[in-house]
Amino acid sequence: MDYFDPHIHMVSRTTDDYETLAKMGCVAMSEPAFWAGFDRGSVEGFRDYFRQLTEFEPKRAGWYHLQHYTWLCINAKEAENVRLSREVIAMIPEFINKPGVLGIGEIGLNKNTKNEAIIFAEHVDLAVRLDEQILIHTPHLEDKYQGTRMILDMLADFSELERRRVLVDHVEEHTIRPVLEQGYWAGMTLYPVSKCTPERAVDMVEMYGPERLLVNSAGDWGPSKPTAVPDFILAMRKRGHTEAAIRRVVYENPLEFFSQSRNFQFTPRDVSEAATN
Ligand SMILES: [Zn+2]
Repeated sequence: MDYFDPHIHMVSRTTDDYETLAKMGCVAMSEPAFWAGFDRGSVEGFRDYFRQLTEFEPKRAGWYHLQHYTWLCINAKEAENVRLSREVIAMIPEFINKPGVLGIGEIGLNKNTKNEAIIFAEHVDLAVRLDEQILIHTPHLEDKYQGTRMILDMLADFSELERRRVLVDHVEEHTIRPVLEQGYWAGMTLYPVSKCTPERAVDMVEMYGPERLLVNSAGDWGPSKPTAVPDFILAMRKRGHTEAAIRRVVYENPLEFFSQSRNFQFTPRDVSEAATN
């Protein structure tokens, strides 16, 4: 089945992974900017990273007929360095109109600190000023519930924010309800060591319905599985869901959410008889 991975960090994956994803039905992916596993030393490190996200990764994806989109920000871990964060935020407009850039992300909280909250709000302000979509990382494990509440409270301060253009990612059973009730999109991340399993994601689809729900792998440099969305597709089939219901979550929903970005120029697969390369 054709599907999107709305959240995957391909800079950390091999070219073989692109090939595997293409063979499993992936047609496009979106890659938020994130933590590289170490703190970068200067704004120039981010400029190079943004060039990799906007120039090299779309090319590498294209070798396998995959479409690659991206989001820009300084992540919550490095947001502890407020001065560097402000330099990165000031540099983002250089890249924001490049092809394939969908908005600001993944911003959010990690340990729910004051500096993280300051830089989160400054990113949201930038997105509102530039009329960009937002992709949000919510913290893991014991920090998730409180961090998600803090994020929703901060977002509520931005009255001009269009909530249907904001994706709150890594939701779990205890955080999904307020995200959906307040009008945001919710992303379920299938991750082996924390976050959600395919079966739990199916549970949440059954409990809340498919509207404004996305499923992603968040594949990165840590223990993760870039083919987690096909695992979800299989888990949905085992529960007896129709192909149309599955396609809604893994294909039509991402298309609907991403289409709100002006740089989302998606070309569906050509299935006509006359298709040529
Ligand atoms: Zn991520």
